[in-house]
Amino acid sequence: MNKLIPSINSDTRIAIIAHVNPDGDSLGSIMALGLALMKRSNQVNIFLNDELPGRYSFLPEVHLLKKYQSNEFDDFDLCFVLDCGDDRRFGDIDLLVKSKEVINIDHHVSNNGFGDINFVRTDASSTCEIVYSIITEELEIQLDEKIATCLYTGIVTDTGNFRYESTTSYTHKVVAELLDFGVNIQEITFNLYQNNSLNSTKFLGHVLNQMEIYFNGKVAIITIDQDLLKEFDVKYEEVEGIINYARDIEGVEVAVIIKEATTDGEIKISFRSKKNYDVNELAKGFGGGGHKRASGATTKGTLTDVKESLLNKLEKMI
Ligand code: 5GP
Ligand code: MN
Repeated sequence: MNKLIPSINSDTRIAIIAHVNPDGDSLGSIMALGLALMKRSNQVNIFLNDELPGRYSFLPEVHLLKKYQSNEFDDFDLCFVLDCGDDRRFGDIDLLVKSKEVINIDHHVSNNGFGDINFVRTDASSTCEIVYSIITEELEIQLDEKIATCLYTGIVTDTGNFRYESTTSYTHKVVAELLDFGVNIQEITFNLYQNNSLNSTKFLGHVLNQMEIYFNGKVAIITIDQDLLKEFDVKYEEVEGIINYARDIEGVEVAVIIKEATTDGEIKISFRSKKNYDVNELAKGFGGGGHKRASGATTKGTLTDVKESLLNKLEKMI
C-alpha cells in the first residue's frame, strides 16, 4: 500500500493536537496516536491547552500531555491535527505555520481539508476509528493495551455507546480487536458514567426542570449561565451529557444547549438531532459545524440574543 505519511524516525519532531473543549474522541485519539508514535520517535509532543476533564483522567499516560506555548517550541516536521473540522478548532496558536507538514485526521462533514495530507472520512464513527487504521495499516505500529484503551474510549463516547447511525460493522470489528488487547470495559464505564459528582447530578435535575419547549414539542432548549454553574459549584464539562436528555424526549427533534462560556461574552452552543433535521447546517449559521446529528458553535453575544437568533433560524427550518 502507498504510504501517505512521510517516514518517521527517532528524530522526527512531531506535534499532536485536537480541538478545544476536549471530549472522549479528541483525547482518546491524541493519546492513542501519541503513544503509538512514541514507539518510533523520541520527539513526540501531545498538546492539550485546556484542563483535562476529570472523567478522562483515567486514560493511560495523560501526564504526558503538555500545554503548547509558542516560545517553548521550535519547528515541527509533522503536526497531526485530530478531530478538528477546521484549522482553528484547536485555538488561536501558531502551530500550523511552525510545522512542515500538517496531517488532518477527522470525521466531521464540515471538515475543509486544511491539511497537507488529509485523512477525512465522514462515514467513520469517530476520529479514533480512523486513527486505528492509520496506526495499524498506514504506520504499521503494533497496538498495545494502553493504545487500545484510548481508542476504545473515543469510539464508545462518539458513538453514544454504539447507538448512533455512524456505528458500522467496521466499528464493531475494530472494537473486537481492541478488546483482545485487554481493554477493561468495566473500568472505562465506571470512569465515564458511574462516577458523577453529587453536585453535577443535582445541576442536571435543575436545568432539566428549567428546559424550554418550542415548536409543538419538537425543540428543547436549555440555557446555562455562569451564575448557575457557580451556584451548583460544577464545571460545565462535568455535565457533558445533559443535551442527550433533552434530545431523547418523545417528540423532540432538535435539542440545543446555549451556555455562557467563561470568557466575556463568549457563548457556546451545542446541537443534537434525532432523525429529520441537519444540525450541522444550524451550527454553520453561527460559524460552527460538526455532524448532521451533533454539532456546535462558539459565538459572541448575550444568552438572550443568541436564543432569539436561534429561534428565528429554527422557525425557518422546522
Ligand atoms: P459538542 O456539542 O459536544 O461540544 O459538539 C458536538 C459536535 O459539534 C462535535 O462533533 C464538535 O466537534 C462540533 N463542534 C462543537 N463546537 C464546535 C465549534 O465551536 N465549532 C465547530 N466547527 N464545531 C463544533
Ligand atoms: Mn469526534
